[in-house]
Amino acid sequence: MDVSAGCAQPMPFQHVYFDHNATTPVAPEVAATVVSCLGETFGNASSIHYFGQAAKQRLESARRQVAALIHAQPAEMVFTGGGTEADNLAILGVAREAAARRGKPGHVITSAIEHPAVLSACAQLEREGFGVTRVPVGAAGVVDPGDLRAALRTDTALISIMHANNETGVVQPVEEISRIAREAGIPFHVDGVQALGKAPVDVKALGVDLYSVSAHKLYAPKGVGALYARKGVRLHPLLFGGHHERDRRPGTENIPGIAGFGAAAQLAMQRARENARLAELRDRLERTVLDRIPDTGVNGCGARVPNTTNIYFDGIDGEALVIALDLRGFAVSTGSACSSGAVTPSHVLTAMGLSAERARASIRFSLGMSNTAEQVDGLTRALEESVAHLRRISVHA
Ligand code: PLP
Repeated sequence: MDVSAGCAQPMPFQHVYFDHNATTPVAPEVAATVVSCLGETFGNASSIHYFGQAAKQRLESARRQVAALIHAQPAEMVFTGGGTEADNLAILGVAREAAARRGKPGHVITSAIEHPAVLSACAQLEREGFGVTRVPVGAAGVVDPGDLRAALRTDTALISIMHANNETGVVQPVEEISRIAREAGIPFHVDGVQALGKAPVDVKALGVDLYSVSAHKLYAPKGVGALYARKGVRLHPLLFGGHHERDRRPGTENIPGIAGFGAAAQLAMQRARENARLAELRDRLERTVLDRIPDTGVNGCGARVPNTTNIYFDGIDGEALVIALDLRGFAVSTGSACSSGAVTPSHVLTAMGLSAERARASIRFSLGMSNTAEQVDGLTRALEESVAHLRRISVHA
């Protein structure tokens, strides 16, 4: 993607984006929908006049579109301000509802490789007196359903496991976990933010009770998401206000953002071919890197979403490699978090058993609709040169 257009200074080269798990560019069709809503459908969807009803129609049409993508009923979709809010609503909403019924806090099960939106919501529950079990993963980056079964308690109120991991792309055994949850009569929440649009999602066939999605991973704007809550699942609200979203999420709806999400969901319905193309490009990238650059390997294996690979480059500082690649025009990322000047290695990779050093030497490449084979080849050349250079200077340092 050429993102130089509109910049004051002409860029010396094109910048190419390989960080689609962080966010995606807004698709032109989606942008057109958002703009038309901003101009024409400015009404408040709660108003009974023409303008309000026009907004309400856009809202309900988007609800049908997003529901159709995951095979849910429209009434089961709650629009939120993004994936983080959807995760929080599911986890805090179900756990607090159960605690209110039982008269005391219960227990939730999650995994060690969840997104901070899930891990931090669980940590909040811990502060409120709940017990939290974080099941481990093996070297492949997959939760073992046996561990999950072993973690069940009589007071377990919720299981929350992600569908596809944001750093490795590894797909979790959601169907198997769903069977365990059903047998035990425990609600099962799935963070589907990184699976939506990359793998077919059928919440009914998966048998899940709650499923979080986010628009900005699907070529739609940021700040919009949704939670599928199966009919009958009771949620303690996070926010208090009006009666929007069937009393589950108060606040005047963001019609342009939600309509954009609907348009993106409609586009994603026909993405099987595109996903096969991305898997080929991802495999080409992996093959070439592993063939040409010594001391490299892929983190995570088994079923993965088609656009993601996470590769370690031993002896390299991942942050330095991200910067070196950026200077050559390629945007990629590490899973590391920078806190108080120190780079903390990715909790996902260390949970998979990688040493802190190897986790810090790992890079996530996440492909998207605009990427081409030529761009992948350019990226692998830039990787060869940058890794060789960084290894040379680290020897001399
Ligand atoms: N869950 C996962 C797996 C994610 O990758 C992300 C975003 O990166 C989120 C939740 C949070 O979504 P949002 O950015 O819409 O709040």
